[in-house]
Amino acid sequence: MSVLEKFLSYIKISSPSDEECESCPSSACQLDVAEFVAQQMKETGLSDVRIEKGYVYGRLPATKGYEDVPCIGLIAHMDTAPEFNGWDVKPQIIENYDGGDVLLAGSGDVLSPADFPELLGSKGHTLITTDGTTLLGADDKAGIAVIMQAVEEIISSGMPHGAIAVGFTPDEEIGRGADNFNVEGFGAQFAYTVDGGLPGEIEYQNFNAYSAKVTITGRSIHPGSSKNQMINSQRVAMEFDRMLPEFERPEYTEGFEGFYHLIGFDGCTEKTTLSYILRDHDDDKIVAKCRLMQDVAAFLNKKYGRELVAVETKESYRNMKCQILPHFHLIENAQKAVEMAGITPKNIAIRGGTDGARLSFMGLPCPNLATGGMNFHGKYECTTKENMEICTQVVKNIISLYAQR
Ligand SMILES: [Zn+2]
Repeated sequence: MSVLEKFLSYIKISSPSDEECESCPSSACQLDVAEFVAQQMKETGLSDVRIEKGYVYGRLPATKGYEDVPCIGLIAHMDTAPEFNGWDVKPQIIENYDGGDVLLAGSGDVLSPADFPELLGSKGHTLITTDGTTLLGADDKAGIAVIMQAVEEIISSGMPHGAIAVGFTPDEEIGRGADNFNVEGFGAQFAYTVDGGLPGEIEYQNFNAYSAKVTITGRSIHPGSSKNQMINSQRVAMEFDRMLPEFERPEYTEGFEGFYHLIGFDGCTEKTTLSYILRDHDDDKIVAKCRLMQDVAAFLNKKYGRELVAVETKESYRNMKCQILPHFHLIENAQKAVEMAGITPKNIAIRGGTDGARLSFMGLPCPNLATGGMNFHGKYECTTKENMEICTQVVKNIISLYAQR
């Protein structure tokens, strides 16, 4: 089976995760993927293949004489994003893509390089798109396909390698992919998630993330007789928001620029709560953002001469960079592996979090590699056979670099 055939066989099994459901996995359909992939892992020749709490684990023992090489983990996730229809995916396969518009026949939408210029990089490729009624599931079934293909080719080529641990996780898209990951049982010293975008991209920096809840207590008095008495908490809330740096908002930022994002405003005269998320790659700047929230509260409390505003900040996740830097061979080898595949490596700072970031703090340093997919989480999601082949080659190159004598 080729990497494309593997990919097509996985996306046939619908597996959206479900934020509303507390169980693990959050949707039973993910177990269908788990069982299918586990069976395939056994057929490929992996050992210790098992499903634990919806997670699939397996292992390829080291070539004789290579037992001292660090065990490298390869991780992808089995769920698809719940925010767009992931049921009954009907892919369109366009051979020798001409770089033009593609009609998504099920919905009449058009996938166009005018909207998505990176499509032009896929000219001449075998392009796989949706039919417009669902997402594709390249995020992250392309990752599963790449890992399975790489392992299969490593075995069939007879190339020497250290031990390889393979893990497929549920519920990544709802932020729970690392929750029940058995780092010890997995047995890898280092790992890569294969859950990124275009070939050559390597990610080892993500946001530091906090949530902030601002509670403003006003004073409600009948508006007809409230002169010099009423304090409208909603107005104080607006004042609070205006005092945050205006251009440090998601809609004005990119790259390494952090932001304050107001995600909720719930108020009446007496009481208002504001919900924010704070993001910054820089460890010091995220601390400064939390402190500024407190400083603004203190200023307003002083201005009004009473404790109207209270701010509570809470850490959501952290930038994995500090966990990766002590093991920078992970990035150096990934970069070399990309170059060996004939493309230019590109370090991308993730403007979000990843399971790999959480795993990195759980003792498994885990940067992220590309899958070759584009436009995730919606009907314009697509990938190409050639991209998946290059990503497979990159994974194989990494394994061979670690086994070099
Ligand atoms: Zn993903």
